[in-house]
Amino acid sequence: MDASTAVAADMPEPIDLRIDSDSLARHVESLGAIGAQASGGILRPVYSLAWRDATAQVAEWMSNAGLDVYRDAVGNVFGRLAGSSDVTILTGSHIDTVPGGGRYDGALGILAGIEALRVLRECGRPKQSIEVVALCEEEHSRYDTGFWGSRAILGLIDPQEPDNLRDQQGVPIGEAMSQLTLDPAQIASAHRRDLTAFIELHVEQGPTLEAEHKQIGLVQSIVSLSMLRIVVLGRADHAGTTPMNERSDAGYAAACIAREVVDLTTRLGAPAVATVGAWRVSPGASNIVPSHVELLVDVRHPDEAAKRQLVAAIGEAAHGIAKRTSVSAVVSTRADIPPARLDPGMVGVIERGIQAGGYSYREITSGAGHDSQLMSRHVPTGMIFVPSASGRSHCSEEFTPNDDCVRGAEVLAHSLYELAYE
Ligand SMILES: [Zn+2]
Repeated sequence: MDASTAVAADMPEPIDLRIDSDSLARHVESLGAIGAQASGGILRPVYSLAWRDATAQVAEWMSNAGLDVYRDAVGNVFGRLAGSSDVTILTGSHIDTVPGGGRYDGALGILAGIEALRVLRECGRPKQSIEVVALCEEEHSRYDTGFWGSRAILGLIDPQEPDNLRDQQGVPIGEAMSQLTLDPAQIASAHRRDLTAFIELHVEQGPTLEAEHKQIGLVQSIVSLSMLRIVVLGRADHAGTTPMNERSDAGYAAACIAREVVDLTTRLGAPAVATVGAWRVSPGASNIVPSHVELLVDVRHPDEAAKRQLVAAIGEAAHGIAKRTSVSAVVSTRADIPPARLDPGMVGVIERGIQAGGYSYREITSGAGHDSQLMSRHVPTGMIFVPSASGRSHCSEEFTPNDDCVRGAEVLAHSLYELAYE
């Protein structure tokens, strides 16, 4: 054997993992039509009829791609490419949307996963099984929870939740499941103990990749998030007869607090972000001084300590403003999610997948929460981002060119190949 053949023998076989770009584009289009609203966005909350139709459609596409299809107790839908061992590598994302959501958030991770498994199937039987999953819920747009699908997979759903979690109409999540022939008593059976890895492809939902002309985002970590509830209590009075200096105006105080949230965050500077996204004003009439305002505040920073400082400063400011404006304010934490560091081994696998395609990329922190955030605490997890046009997401304008989607799917296929076949 001469030197050149020795080198050739050591080289990995070049693998052709060409994604069916037409199929991916068609599926994004068709899935985006399920739950489409007249306003242009999509509404597909968990256990709605649109959600049911979308999961049925995805199951059909998985089957057409030659995968073994099944659904678990909570309605996560899986397409399986069986390997020669009992362990499983999982890819996928969520199928539910926010109200007025776009076609790519969540959906792309599922559809790219189906295309990746379609080409991998041509490579023969993998050593580890690979599954693509349509996770049933991530966005908490119907129930005040989140990650319902991935929590079921990780065995993190409390037995009381099916009865206790209720939507705005008062329907318990267990009842919503039963209406779609899913048995809440079986939720524990969705717990998976065979997972060795999770990879999620997702749209960036921010402007960085597009602005820097990078084709792929190699996600290193997911931002830390706190959701605060600030309740401001004043006194209802006649809007016409109560002099300005005798009011205890919860609306005015809440407006000052909201302004201070933005000012404090702006002063701290990027990458800190904070949003006062929900206001509930009572009694809620133009001729009554507001007596009660509830604000929901979303605070994010990649650095946990910096986020905590900002949260503390917001709390102090709220109390200071309340005192100054003769109202009272109660600040509580509704959710507190620490940052997630993605698995360095998985980041390496994805990086090699990007290099196999010769694509431009950058390391990135996700400013949005994802199923990967939760998965990463239990299973080695990696995330692939593709660009979002103008950084827009959670709106009908959400868009990623198909070429970018295809590149992401190819990186996913390469990553899964290294994990499952080598
Ligand atoms: Zn998402």
